[in-house]
Amino acid sequence: MTVPAVSLTPRTKPGLGVGASAGAAHPPDHRYRALRENTDGKQELGESGYFAGAHARECPCSPSPSSVDLLDLASRDDFHRWEAQLAAIGHCAHPIRLEGRIDAIDKATGRAALMYDTATEPGGVLRIACGNRREDVCPACSEVYKGDARQIIRSGLTGGKGVPDTVATHPAVFATLTAPGFGPVHTTRTGRAGRLLPCRSRRDVNQRRCAHGRDISCPRTHQPDDPRLGRPMCPDCYDYTGHVLFNALASELWRRFTIYLPRQLARLAGITQKQFRAEARVRFVKVAEYQARGVVHYHAIIRLDAATIGCQPPGARYTAAMLSDAIRQAAAVVSYDTATVTAADPGLGRILRFGTQLDTRVIRSGGAMSAQAVANYIAKYATKTTGAPGLPHRPVNGPAAIAGLHCAPHHKRLISTCWEIGKHPAAAALGLNRWTHMLGYRGHFLTKSRRYSATFTALRQARIVHRRQQRHPDGEKDPWGRDLDERTVLLMTTWRYAGTGHATTAERQLALAAAARAREHDQIAREETWMN
Ligand SMILES: [Zn+2]
Ligand SMILES: [Zn+2]
Ligand SMILES: [Zn+2]
Repeated sequence: MTVPAVSLTPRTKPGLGVGASAGAAHPPDHRYRALRENTDGKQELGESGYFAGAHARECPCSPSPSSVDLLDLASRDDFHRWEAQLAAIGHCAHPIRLEGRIDAIDKATGRAALMYDTATEPGGVLRIACGNRREDVCPACSEVYKGDARQIIRSGLTGGKGVPDTVATHPAVFATLTAPGFGPVHTTRTGRAGRLLPCRSRRDVNQRRCAHGRDISCPRTHQPDDPRLGRPMCPDCYDYTGHVLFNALASELWRRFTIYLPRQLARLAGITQKQFRAEARVRFVKVAEYQARGVVHYHAIIRLDAATIGCQPPGARYTAAMLSDAIRQAAAVVSYDTATVTAADPGLGRILRFGTQLDTRVIRSGGAMSAQAVANYIAKYATKTTGAPGLPHRPVNGPAAIAGLHCAPHHKRLISTCWEIGKHPAAAALGLNRWTHMLGYRGHFLTKSRRYSATFTALRQARIVHRRQQRHPDGEKDPWGRDLDERTVLLMTTWRYAGTGHATTAERQLALAAAARAREHDQIAREETWMN
């Protein structure tokens, strides 16, 4: 038997090891899709979609398992089967546990026979991956998601996954659309040759103090890990309402940007919008990233295709330089009047725009802005959230809960602003009370136009098919030894939710160690691929 490589810690808290269920302490509020087209109950392992429920990260019930518990687990008869289940779900940190069975009924004869029963599995349960995108919730599932994101992004630049290789010749631009300023904050500034400059030097004496009498200059040169970065010089000057409204409506600004961009392209090409639509299409993939001050900005890959079916290069008149110009012009003119959603309350009235710090770079094969570099750069944001220490993972309700948070005062104030606006009848349409933990941002972290490249669903489906083929190289059989054919056999599945998380802390510890090893292995394999 292989004993897993995990450090066995001495028993420090007797009685807390075995039976402490990480899952049982949480309410069963997980939303999950039913297993898809199960035929043997195993093939959907790790592929059951994305679970959006509460997670055990803040779980107080995570004592270290004792060495006795770990050895108990490792010497169990079904340990290898348990390890195999874990590998099949990609070493998920919070698997969903299901109990149930699959019966086959012969449609011609009416005979019934058992095909699969979770009673034969370790602990009597089938484990399926939580599928959470977020790195801080499930490192294993987020790694799978990030890998898919990387493939989706890259194939839209270099081809593959159903996209022709000629896509590499299409005009493509990597653009960063930032948020505007909401008041002076501590920041990093770089001068020529990348030298770091002081935050806000004191040259202009008149601007040293704000209306509240606070010194709003800062002679320091902040390092990138300085916790002061992004914090306002004067919280009373800072427009917290505007900041939260920007986060809440950033997706709407982006949507408008995607409408304006073809108009600008038509204008630059000297043709009508109708003519442009007949000739070319704009495709994109974008990710949202939180800046240190807690506001989202977007990184996007924007590509031009011909308007024909399939992914063909657009006409010669469309160049990457023209696309860059059009992006700049569209981003500059797009705006959103919050009165549209906040009624006529003047306190909530803002005209939202993107910031003036817009960055556009042409993506070329080779070079620093290569497809691989851009795909890696933006895929990493697909699994992140705010990133600021102490921020909650779920909505925070009410001033008492907000006061109890262990995060920076700036973030606390953003959360309470979000709560206050959420309660405001004029802004009810924004539903901000549900997004306090996201500082108001209600959008997805990765979105793309439909025809940019492959979809997450297609990649997951390909994995399911691949695993099924690996498990049944000669095809699946029904209980009577015939090739499984759902036209002749009816499959009856019965599932019951049995909990979330690993059943014991010893299991959880071993699972996390195995997950870390698997990630390290994947990382090495990836680096070797890049080097060759
Ligand atoms: Zn997971
Ligand atoms: Zn500063
Ligand atoms: Zn002030």
